Amino acid sequence: MEKPKFQRVLIKLSGEALQGNQGYGICPDTLDLVADQICELSELGIEVGIVIGGGNIFRGVAGSTAGMDRTSADYMGMLATVINGLALQDAFESRGVPTRVQTALEIKEVAEPYIRRRAMRHLEKGRVVIFGAGTGNPYFTTDTAAALRAMEIRASVILKGTKVDGVYDSDPVENPEATMFDRLTYLDVLSKNLRVMDSTAISLCMDNKLPIIVFNLRKRGNMKAVIFGEDIGTLIVD
Ligand code: UDP
Repeated sequence: MEKPKFQRVLIKLSGEALQGNQGYGICPDTLDLVADQICELSELGIEVGIVIGGGNIFRGVAGSTAGMDRTSADYMGMLATVINGLALQDAFESRGVPTRVQTALEIKEVAEPYIRRRAMRHLEKGRVVIFGAGTGNPYFTTDTAAALRAMEIRASVILKGTKVDGVYDSDPVENPEATMFDRLTYLDVLSKNLRVMDSTAISLCMDNKLPIIVFNLRKRGNMKAVIFGEDIGTLIVD
């Protein structure tokens, strides 16, 4: 059998990745599609960590624009990521894939607290580890949490699933002429202000030479293809 290119990966899913075509929340069919793909990786022996966003439920910026205190709004956003994490865990375990949720804010009754060494042990034992509550700090994003956790667990790549095929020079949903990049440097992403991950996350990846692959999550089989080294999506490196 072919050898996978990556043995341990960190998958960043935005909250929207679970939303499907609904305006809000979690779409069961979309959750199934995502879970099928991730479980396939786990069953192939790939060690999978996931950082899940919360934008399908609540974003701190939206709360603060509406007049809330930004810090409180960000805590609400972090709790939203935990809701998504539990939904993912349920979907994985119903497929027979052992999963642990670890949160950066303690909610002991529903999830383990984030303990790096324990997370590493889970990964070694073939459990999928879902990291909830972002970094645990307001004013950060789950993109930054993804970069941080990827480094901590020594993942060899961040796989960032999106609604489109990769990174484009303009929004492909609005502009049919938009061109996709096969490869970019971190500096390209920062200087062209490409909306891949926020600048804190990109800088962290740049400083630590952690590659990012942006690919279409909605195409079944894509995630496995990326793992086996097919040229899918956009690769971001030095
Ligand atoms: N958040 C935060 N600190 C973090 C990660 C997330 O305060 O370390 C909050 C922030 O309010 C953010 C919300 O959680 O808007 C949801 O996360 P994010 O916007 O990154 O989710 P995504 O866009 O990936 O769905």
